[in-house]
Amino acid sequence: MSNTLTVDTARLPLLLSELRLPTVARLWPDFAERADREGWPAARLLAALAELEVAERVQRRIQRHLQEARLPPGKTLDSFEFAAVPTLSRAQIVALAAGDSWLEKGTNILAFGPPGSGKTHIAAALGHALVDNGFRVLFTRTTDLVQRLQAARQDLSLASAIDKLDKYDLLILDDLSYVHKSQAETSVLFELISTRYERRSLMITANQPFGAWDQIFPDKAMTVAAIDRLVHHAVILEMNVESYRRRTALTRAVVTSDTAVSPDAVAPATSSPTPE
Ligand code: ADP
Ligand code: MG
Repeated sequence: MSNTLTVDTARLPLLLSELRLPTVARLWPDFAERADREGWPAARLLAALAELEVAERVQRRIQRHLQEARLPPGKTLDSFEFAAVPTLSRAQIVALAAGDSWLEKGTNILAFGPPGSGKTHIAAALGHALVDNGFRVLFTRTTDLVQRLQAARQDLSLASAIDKLDKYDLLILDDLSYVHKSQAETSVLFELISTRYERRSLMITANQPFGAWDQIFPDKAMTVAAIDRLVHHAVILEMNVESYRRRTALTRAVVTSDTAVSPDAVAPATSSPTPE
């Protein structure tokens, strides 16, 4: 780049930074030198730099969206063992991971299964794939979001807090069943569900299917209304399998043990209500 930084180009770094073209700013000296050396037409140089800027911009956007999504790390489709959940269709999950029409229609995904059945994993994996495919996702424990919205309501800013979540194509509410109407004013959750209805998708994981949901909302009417909106356009993932953790612990125990191991002695099933 000996003679590239002439009077004509001295202001280029500043101009490119002003135009927010960091890739062009980084690459142009080498590219210009190569173009001069190899006799590229000026248009080719311009096109090459523009293509690279756009490609890197897409990558930078995905990185930003990945950070803002707050997905639990390592829970991807690649690390999900579909054989462990026979009720789950890999083809259906792969289709959902592409995004597109179901997100446009505001379709919801509801994943039900006992603790350890892989609900959080599959939700996070879908989230990861969707971000990679250019969508915006937010993963949150339902109790955390309820607390946030509750605080917003106290500040009289509930509507704007809910509107801010509109930028996410998919909002993943993990562990809905851990929300209790006694813990917080859960009508904020109903507000959220109503506002997103038929516009923006929700993915909900829960240990309990609908039967136990009157523990979540303030009254029966609100429970019915919430379920009605959630299921109107929804994909339901039934993950009625035994805890993956427990099964892998058992396999390890059996493999490493010399004597026969009673499954229940190794890892007794637990119905503890702590989030998985
Ligand atoms: P849940 O949310 O239903 O309680 P998790 O998704 O947290 O269950 O799963 C418990 C643990 O087991 C996690 O570490 C998760 O990555 C792993 N796991 C569960 N199901 C699978 C699966 N099918 N393939 C690979 N790992 C799994
Ligand atoms: Mg979970």
